[in-house]
Amino acid sequence: MFDAGEGIQLALKKGGVGIRALEVIAISHMHADHVLGLPGVLMFRAQCDDPGPLTIIGPRGIQKFIKHTLDDLRYRINFELNFIEWHKGCDPTAIEWNGCDVKWEPLVHSTFCLGYRVEEHTRPGKFNLEQAKQLGIPMGPLYGKLQSGQSVTLDDGTVIDSTQVLGPTRRGRVVTFATDTAPCTGLKNLSQSADLAFIEGMFTELHSAEAAEKKHSTAASSAQIASEAGVCKLVLVHISPRYTFEDEKILKKEARAHFRGAIIARGLDTFDIPLPD
Ligand SMILES: [Zn+2]
Ligand SMILES: [Zn+2]
Repeated sequence: MFDAGEGIQLALKKGGVGIRALEVIAISHMHADHVLGLPGVLMFRAQCDDPGPLTIIGPRGIQKFIKHTLDDLRYRINFELNFIEWHKGCDPTAIEWNGCDVKWEPLVHSTFCLGYRVEEHTRPGKFNLEQAKQLGIPMGPLYGKLQSGQSVTLDDGTVIDSTQVLGPTRRGRVVTFATDTAPCTGLKNLSQSADLAFIEGMFTELHSAEAAEKKHSTAASSAQIASEAGVCKLVLVHISPRYTFEDEKILKKEARAHFRGAIIARGLDTFDIPLPD
């Protein structure tokens, strides 16, 4: 989960996302609209029997905030809670989780803010069934071994290396989450060739001066960066609540002038990330 706005546990329920599956929460920055949902999430999760450990990654201060909240509310949680806080010179990979590297990098906002990039590990190449048959490898468990990159020995003593039956390795998918931020290098780095990018598109061009002053972005500037970074699918988030449905049409039009097909996120939207190959 990226960030936890107020009442996020209700959205999890509505969206049918099991709280038990939630193992890592990545927090961008210490502004109320990004962290006030955390106590609710922790309490919701504590209703499960033995939900397993939870790791919260984020800026310095996130651990203190949670500790105070738990102490002040005298709330007990029934799972291990781990924290990883960003610091100067820290590893660019915040955590390795579920076959992915979760990377972080500072953005530019009115308070210290982190953007995230989830990189799925490289996947092994495609298994060449014809080749395997020609090499006389019997169907069965040997196929699995070769597929996972191991070499195998046949009954006649022939050693087969996995590279003989596997195609070139395939790149994993990339998802970017970047809000709140003014246009910056960090945003561009995190977005590089992302399959799916959630980037803030808070303001229309009419309010670009306000965006700059508050260290936020316009939908158009985010779309431009996403386009330059070679993002595949762009979803704009963190739209200013001042905008009506009609205003959002302007926002979308301004974004789409730079990035064809840019989407404005709605609550409970879901997005598929197809495998690149
Ligand atoms: Zn903020
Ligand atoms: Zn915000």
